[in-house]
Amino acid sequence: MKLIYYRIVSTLWIFLILIFRKIKDDDYNNSLLAKKFMKFNNKFAINRLKKKKIPTEKIAILLPHCLQDDNCLFKITSDISNCKKCGKCKIGEIVKLKEKYDIKVKVATGGTLARLFIKKTRPKFIIAVACERDLITGIYDSFPLNVYGIFNERINGPCYNTNVNVNEIEEVLKKVSRG
Ligand code: SF4
Repeated sequence: MKLIYYRIVSTLWIFLILIFRKIKDDDYNNSLLAKKFMKFNNKFAINRLKKKKIPTEKIAILLPHCLQDDNCLFKITSDISNCKKCGKCKIGEIVKLKEKYDIKVKVATGGTLARLFIKKTRPKFIIAVACERDLITGIYDSFPLNVYGIFNERINGPCYNTNVNVNEIEEVLKKVSRG
C-alpha cells in the first residue's frame, strides 16, 4: 500500500473518529471506529516492513506515564530501569522485555518528550501505547514514521493506573525484530 493512500485514508478515518468522540466521549472504552482504525494502521505498519526483520536497536517502545502505579515513588520517566519490578503495575514486565530484547523504552509524560526521544534515538519501528485520543493523534503527527499502536486499558478511568496487554507487545516484537 502506498504511503499517500495510507495518508488520505487515515486522515478521513481520524476526522470521523474525532467527530464521533465529540458526540460520545467514553472514559473507559475505545470506540469501534478507533479499534478499526488501529487494525488498519497496524496492518499497514507490518506490511511496510515487507517481511524484513529490524535490528532490535532500531525498535523503540513508547509508553504513557499513567501505566505506572500512582503510589510508586521511583522515577521511571527519566529512566525506566529505575523500576524495581515489584509487580504492582505492568512497567516491571515491560522492563523485562526491554532487557530480553535489548530495545529502547521511554515513558513519556507528553507529546513533546515523546518527539524528543524519537529525534534522539531515530527508531525505524515504534510500538506506541496510549489512550485512544493520544495514540491516534500521535500516530498521525509522526507520519511517515512506522508506528504500531496498542491502546492502554483505562480500567480506572482516564490517565490513572491504566493497564496494557504486555503479551501483545511481545508478539509484535517477535514478529518484527531480528534476533
Ligand atoms: S512495577 Fe516498577 S513502576 Fe510499577 S510500581 Fe513496581 S517499581 Fe513502580
